[in-house]
Order: sequence, then C-alpha cells, then structure tokens
Amino acid sequence: MLVVMRAQATEQDIAGVCEKIQSLGFRPHVMPGAERTAIGITGNHGPVPAAEFEDLPGVAEAIPVSKPYKLVSREVKPDNTVVRIAGVAVGGAELALCAGPCSVENREQILASARAVKASGGQLLRGGAYKPRTSPYAFQGLGEEGLKYLAEAREETGLGVVTEAIDVETFDLVEEYADCIQIGARNMQNFSLLRRAGRARKPVLLKRGMSSTLDEFLMAAEYILSEGNYQVILCERGVRTFADHTRNTLDLSVVPAVQSLSHLPIIVDPSHGTGKRDKVHPMALAAVAAGASGLIVEVHPNPDRALSDGFQSLYPEQFQELAEECRAVADLLRKRRVSAEARLAPALS
Ligand code: PEP
Ligand code: MN
Repeated sequence: MLVVMRAQATEQDIAGVCEKIQSLGFRPHVMPGAERTAIGITGNHGPVPAAEFEDLPGVAEAIPVSKPYKLVSREVKPDNTVVRIAGVAVGGAELALCAGPCSVENREQILASARAVKASGGQLLRGGAYKPRTSPYAFQGLGEEGLKYLAEAREETGLGVVTEAIDVETFDLVEEYADCIQIGARNMQNFSLLRRAGRARKPVLLKRGMSSTLDEFLMAAEYILSEGNYQVILCERGVRTFADHTRNTLDLSVVPAVQSLSHLPIIVDPSHGTGKRDKVHPMALAAVAAGASGLIVEVHPNPDRALSDGFQSLYPEQFQELAEECRAVADLLRKRRVSAEARLAPALS
C-alpha cells in the first residue's frame, strides 16, 4: 500500500498518516518527491484497507503497489534517488567514478592506488579489507589493518572509501571506517547481512548476485530499504552464462531495465563483469552509453603482482584513459539531454 499525499499536504498531515500506520502495527516510510510525498507501508502480511487512509487530512489517494517490491519501486518514488557518498553524488548529472584495487594488500599499495585514482579524476576509492574468496586458502584480506590504510588514503587524497562487508560479525567495523559499504555478489541474498546493512548509517553499494534475476536483485535492495536505509546504489557486475570468453557476462540491458522499475541509481563493474583487462575499457564505455550512473573499476599499481584479480585490474595509465573517454561519453549524452529538454520546454509550457 502506498499513501500518496496532496502537493499541499503539511508536515502535520504526513505525521498523522505515519501515526495511523504505526497504530495498525506497520512501519511507515516517508518518500519525499519533487511534486508530492508518498508514504510506503511495510510490515503488513495481508492487504491494508485503503479506506483507513483516504479520509485523513492531506491524503490524495491510497493505492495498492502492484510489484512484489515496494520501496525500491518507481511507483512509490517517481524521481531518481541521488545517493551521496562523502559528498560525491551517485545518480545525479555527473558520472561517478570509483576505482582501486580488488584487495587492500599493504599501506604503500593502497596509497599508490589512491593517488592514481585521484590523478585520473576518480572520486571514490575501492578496496576490500575483507574478501569473499572462492578458496579458503586464497588471500582473505587484511581486516581492520586494511580499513586503517583505506582511512589513511582517504585522509591524504580526499577520496570517499567504498569497501565490502562480508558478514554481520565484522559489519560494525566496516561501517566505522567506510563511506559506503559494499555488499558483494555472493552475499546478495544473505538476508541477515542485508537487514544489518538496512540499519547502517552509511550508503550501501549492492552488487547483483551472479545468477540473480532483476526481481531478485530489486528484492535484495528492498531488504535494505525496508529497514530504513534508503541510500542504496545497485551495481551490475556480470552474471554466469555458458560464455567462456569472459569470466562473467556483463548484462548491460539491466541498466535501462532497473531504471524503468526503480528510482535507485545503478552503476556498472566492468572488471568483474569481464574478468579480462583488455575487455574492461570497451565495456566501461558501453556501460556509460547505456546510461549507468557510474563505474566501479579495479586498478592496481602493479597488477601482475596483485594478490587478487590481477588479470582484470588496469594499470594506472589505462584507468586514466578509461576515465577520460567515459567522461567524454557521459558529457556528450548530458549535453544532448539538456538540449532536447530545452527544445521540449516551450512546447510543454
Ligand atoms: C569485488 O568487488 O572485489 C568483488 C568481490 O566483487 P563481486 O562481489 O562482484 O564478485
Ligand atoms: Mn575483485
């Protein structure tokens, strides 16, 4: 159920609806929009009677939500959500570029990576301190030591830090150091972790599970929003297919598909999406052309010595070129959009 308020509804009207929802034992989620505020309801196991709300002051209508997910849906919030990570907008007019190594390996490596990302105009630094590895014998990350090096890299460069939380046990620590908490593909349906992320005070980057459908992806995001954290960025990182020329198959068609169903921003990871260094640049360009709000790319000062994902990590000079070309594509698309809007504006007014 979605309670849509009138454009003129007051704060008091909104509070009145929230109280009513709580008195029924449910949870209200206030979603302010450009034209009107909507209030989503969660916690109900059956239909909520619309008549309970229709006569309350400020209410325009109470409508059932037709999708299995509610809070992530455009039906609930027609305007795009812009998520802010340490002052960087994801989902706004600018392309957001997040880059760095797969894992934080040591102090020098992450500082060198951060300087390279900064020099290329990237705004966010990635790097895992806790790594979900296929083999239990592979490098598992430096843990808190890695988080401290990330904080030092942020201090020096001003880049916001995106780093992964792999379990509920270490979540608090990751939340303390990160500017944005990544939930990885393998954990996309780890529902207790998603609920914990929903109680976090930091934005969340949710990667698509490697065999998840669009609905499953959006439902995973719904877990986070349903706990009250609306700052969620979706990330396409490739899915498993029969193809063996790449590590995964980057499903770029999910970008416009997400954008039509959800208000949440979607970015693309062409590194895990291809698993091969020479495919990262072309697929990054394609992702921007498809309308992605940003990219997350693996870059390493010495990829051949990387402790994880070296074969898909770019050399710093390659990232510089990728960043320049992707920004050029994003600028071109933005200019075309702005001039199309300007052409349409007189017709609409
Ligand atoms: C990563 O970003 O290094 C990572 C492990 O990604 P994914 O969860 O998409 O495999
Ligand atoms: Mn990786």
